[in-house]
Amino acid sequence: MPPKEFATDPAREAYDVVIVGGAIMGSSLAWWLTENPDFDGSVLVVERDPSYAMCSTAHTNSCIRQQFSTELNVRISQFTARFIKDLRANMGGDPRVPNLDIQSFGYLYLADTAAAADTLRANQQVQLAAGAETRLLTRDQIAADYPFYDLDGIVLGSINTKDEGYWDGGTLFEWFRRAAQARGVEYVSGEVVEMTRRGARIDSVTLASGARISCGHVVNAAGPRAARVAAMAGLALPVEPRKRYSWIFTAERPLDWALPLTIDPSGVHVRQDGPTTYLAGSKGETDPAVDPDDFTMDHALWQDHVWPALAARIPTFEAIRVVTEWVGHYAYNTLDQNAVLGPHPEVENFLFMNGFSGHGLQQAPAMGRGLAEWIAHQEYRSLDLSPFAFGRVARGAAMVEGAVI
Ligand SMILES: Cc1cc2nc3c(=O)[nH]c(=O)nc-3n(C[C@H](O)[C@H](O)[C@H](O)COP(=O)(O)OP(=O)(O)OC[C@H]3O[C@@H](n4cnc5c(N)ncnc54)[C@H](O)[C@@H]3O)c2cc1C
Repeated sequence: MPPKEFATDPAREAYDVVIVGGAIMGSSLAWWLTENPDFDGSVLVVERDPSYAMCSTAHTNSCIRQQFSTELNVRISQFTARFIKDLRANMGGDPRVPNLDIQSFGYLYLADTAAAADTLRANQQVQLAAGAETRLLTRDQIAADYPFYDLDGIVLGSINTKDEGYWDGGTLFEWFRRAAQARGVEYVSGEVVEMTRRGARIDSVTLASGARISCGHVVNAAGPRAARVAAMAGLALPVEPRKRYSWIFTAERPLDWALPLTIDPSGVHVRQDGPTTYLAGSKGETDPAVDPDDFTMDHALWQDHVWPALAARIPTFEAIRVVTEWVGHYAYNTLDQNAVLGPHPEVENFLFMNGFSGHGLQQAPAMGRGLAEWIAHQEYRSLDLSPFAFGRVARGAAMVEGAVI
């Protein structure tokens, strides 16, 4: 089932649901709407960049974990793990749909202070209560299991090797989109530039082409551009684009062990990529909001900060060579680094699907399913996702996700 071309103009003047942004979140919702037996409305996805070259989904590191500080985030990733491992059956048995493996090398969080160790202990309790298999490792245990680390200064680690590691998020995105299109969801190439709000409702969206589309619901799935789209409805959303840098490198002497996704206290993280390649990631030395079109690489960051941190923690990484590098954007929720999902309390047909702060790829299945339930039934029926509601933003009542990488 090759992806269909995107039309430039919508076929109709009105849709039950208009989704702004057709990357993994918008496409997950589109597919789940077609899957929901109680929804038979029309769905339009408007995507400003059908090449998807610039979106977060194209710049991701594509990992999944259960080591969150919020129980709901653990349960969301557990659902995704089940969903993707049985993707073919979950998508109706189409033999072309693959089941997706998780390379469960685990995330190894390293703590270098008593306070950081206490955080790992507290997070482990949350994770165990949700059914995760997180283990705390003393420094000696880390040294025994992973002898390649220099553990100078490390006091504790935590790791979970069940359903935690790399998975192929790009393929899931492709199948959400293709299957949604095959089931009649219309994707158009265009940019939503304006919304017409009448009191408590959005009546219509206007595209850059001038086309005006009436909508039953409008969904903000615009990734790092989410605040701009919310502003079109007269709403303030504390989500901003923040740069995240990634490097793939080879090592002169590759490790004999699969490298867990190691979260170093320096702020650098690194994991196994291919059989002999590794992926490192970091934010910048400062972390301001940036323009969503700013993809400028900070070359000094690698040289002055990332490489030295890698070589200090894994001495064999003294001799490495970068083979590719890129810049992507987190849609960073400045209130609490958690998703904002569901209707605005006053403008009730404006739905948020925003602020995933670097863990959205693994949340796409649960978020799409949940929002489709909300559209069909005005309630969440599987996982209760109401803690992500916009109301907490309005009240300034943060639900902080502390384990943000
Ligand atoms: C470097 C990096 C590493 C990451 N690693 C992980 C990871 O390991 N695990 C994980 O779970 N998550 C990870 N993430 C986060 C994850 O990639 C994102 O949360 C997820 O891809 C967000 O998907 P999205 O659909 O919300 O946003 P996007 O992929 O950014 O898509 C938004 C879409 O909306 C479109 N759009 C915007 N405005 C308009 C408009 N006005 N009109 C029409 N279209 C519009 C854009 O063109 C874009 O295609 C990472 C992100 C980055 C940057």
